Amino acid sequence: MYRRVALIGGGAASAALLQALVERAATQPATLHLDWYADTDQPGRGVAYGIDSPRLLLNVRAASMGMFSGKPQAFLDFARERDPGIAGTDFLPRRLYGDYLQAELARALALAPARGIDVRLRPLPAAAVVPEADGVTVLCGDEQTHADAALLALGTLPPRPLPFVAAEALAQGRYVVDPWAFLARPASGHPPPRRVLVLGLGLTAVDVILELAARWPQTQFIALSRHGHLPEAHRAQAAAPVDDGGALFEALHEAPQVRRWMRQLREAVAASGDWRAVIDGLRPHLQTLWQALPPEERARFLRHARWAWERVRHRMPPQVAEAVAALEGEGRLECLRGRVRAVTAAGDALRVQLSAPAENLRTLEGDLVIQATGLNTDLRQDIGHPLLRQMALNGHLLPDPLGLGVQAEADGRLRHAGGTWPQIYTIGGLLRGTLWESTAMPEIRQHARVLAERILAA
Ligand SMILES: Cc1cc2nc3c(=O)[nH]c(=O)nc-3n(C[C@H](O)[C@H](O)[C@H](O)COP(=O)(O)OP(=O)(O)OC[C@H]3O[C@@H](n4cnc5c(N)ncnc54)[C@H](O)[C@@H]3O)c2cc1C
Repeated sequence: MYRRVALIGGGAASAALLQALVERAATQPATLHLDWYADTDQPGRGVAYGIDSPRLLLNVRAASMGMFSGKPQAFLDFARERDPGIAGTDFLPRRLYGDYLQAELARALALAPARGIDVRLRPLPAAAVVPEADGVTVLCGDEQTHADAALLALGTLPPRPLPFVAAEALAQGRYVVDPWAFLARPASGHPPPRRVLVLGLGLTAVDVILELAARWPQTQFIALSRHGHLPEAHRAQAAAPVDDGGALFEALHEAPQVRRWMRQLREAVAASGDWRAVIDGLRPHLQTLWQALPPEERARFLRHARWAWERVRHRMPPQVAEAVAALEGEGRLECLRGRVRAVTAAGDALRVQLSAPAENLRTLEGDLVIQATGLNTDLRQDIGHPLLRQMALNGHLLPDPLGLGVQAEADGRLRHAGGTWPQIYTIGGLLRGTLWESTAMPEIRQHARVLAERILAA
């Protein structure tokens, strides 16, 4: 059995792993030392559940957001203790989910000693993980600790400025690279901007716009993306996912080609009359389907189908869709289609050049430009994460060739040039290249259970 394991990361995936280890360690005779490296002394909430706002909602219904595999209703039970009127189909505030994660973590930490798990929290980033024949050495501050295995639950990479943003625009301080850090900051005391340009039109952009529109009631927002479409919305009432006995999944799995998949999906939607139910019916199979897709087809998917897929797969809660429509109706939000070519400084403002359909080049000015282009998982260049940079430079990990995190086995073991590390695992966003669906709680809790069993059995 492993005697000492390093858990690295301070978000929901670490919380789920710790909880899964404590739950399953009940029968362990020996002590497992768990060194938990989190770059905060309040781990658990991570990036997604850390901002204290009632407007930022979960995009998964309450009944599916439990953090334990086998008990998806656990979050709903927690929420109902506070408000018995809450329904399983509700989309609740993410800060409430953060409260739930922290309550569960506190419970797991209290229970850990009785289950033979000795948890030592280091509220500092782990700077390096060095693989060795009999485990790993973790460097953190001026300490080096040997462990039998390492679990990397690092989330995704810090956002990088888009390549067309001029250096002087970045230096001016009106270009926001990390929207979550910006929203988490206390109000600056400066007068609110008159016009904000948002680059991106996915769920991140929607969150940013709604939150800032409430904080700055006079501000106008223009959001830009290549396709100019907002995400689709969930229905208020959940419809059951299509249950065709696995027929669509099998048809897709048999012929893993993106063009055929698109056609088969269109046919399935036409037959069912409810595209949401078709997409939801496929959700449990998405990891298997992605793994069946050959590399050139994955690249084709990213080029041609990704944006359309993300729009229908990652949907807005209905009340969010209504709030966005109200902003559009009031003339405070405009969504534009076009490809951003340059962001430059223009006196006190920023100028965005856009090649829009049927126009040669359009120029927009804003007092603030916010980059909201989604999660960064690209380790192929300029890695802004010290631990991952160190591992990549030393050849201890391999970037996914399509920029979707690291190369890994389906169980999360990292690959290196000579094979697979038996003792270094990852979970969450860095596994997108291997699993595609790896970032949301339903997948994370499932993977946490598998990893906990593996660690305890090793
Ligand atoms: C804004 C947002 C909203 C979301 N909403 C939902 C939702 O409604 N439903 C859903 O199912 N999923 C949602 N997700 C998906 C989300 O990714 C997962 O639910 C989950 O929060 C991921 O947790 P994580 O621990 O993998 O990553 P993170 O939350 O990113 O946590 C990783 C943590 O590790 C820390 N860290 C990184 N490097 C080191 C190091 N070297 N040493 C120590 N610590 C380190 C980071 O600082 C960070 O705190 C959302 C994601 C985002 C970003």
